[in-house]
Amino acid sequence: MTTISSRLQDILATIQSAQASSPFAQTVQLVAVSKAQPASAIREAYAAGQAVFGENYLQEALDKQSQLTDLNIEWHFIGPIQSNKTQPISQHFAWVHSVDRLKIAQRLNDARPADLPPLQVCIQVNVSNEESKSGVAPEDLPALAEEIQKLPKLKLRGLMAIPAPTEDTNRQLAQFKLVRECYDALLAKGFALDTLSIGMSEDFPVAVAQGATFVRIGSALFGARPNRMQT
Ligand SMILES: *Cc1c(COP(=O)(O)O)cnc(C)c1O
Repeated sequence: MTTISSRLQDILATIQSAQASSPFAQTVQLVAVSKAQPASAIREAYAAGQAVFGENYLQEALDKQSQLTDLNIEWHFIGPIQSNKTQPISQHFAWVHSVDRLKIAQRLNDARPADLPPLQVCIQVNVSNEESKSGVAPEDLPALAEEIQKLPKLKLRGLMAIPAPTEDTNRQLAQFKLVRECYDALLAKGFALDTLSIGMSEDFPVAVAQGATFVRIGSALFGARPNRMQT
């Protein structure tokens, strides 16, 4: 077994056991975060059965996509979105996890090619308060969700969050619980959501216990990241 393949099996087993003890009857999918990893690493993970990959930097992602056209990969964009990058993002990804303002959502909608299914999107929520600049504040979430739901070429699926890294497990749990509360509040308002994108290499079992349906895992799968390639 290759290293990536054996790590993948370990991660999937950990997800499965966390899921078995989760109070939420969710299905959990792994998004393999391949930022700063070469196309060959993606190929290796794909050969081991992983077909969903997440990228943060547009140009880097497009370069790798062009090297991997023979694979049936589902590409997820998970990084910060500049408004001048919305067109290629909307054209080259199946999912975007990091929508955090209406202008970006509108531009993604307008750029989505007519021959593709709607772009699957999550709204990124800021659950770490002053520590992060990305993500909509929880109090502004319902209004943004309302507007995004009106966009015909986007399909609003749920929420994404990147909790501030912390050694304090209570603080970590509090941040996951806050995302969960935001999610439940939208469900209570009648939004038909099914996706909670939380959990990374260091904390995914805790995220699964809070109902994660996507965990986004990079270093635990591919090993430590080499220096960042292109932005
Ligand atoms: C890099 C990144 C990840 C994966 O982080 P790891 O700690 O390597 O698992 C997940 N989500 C986002 C948004 C990232 O930028």
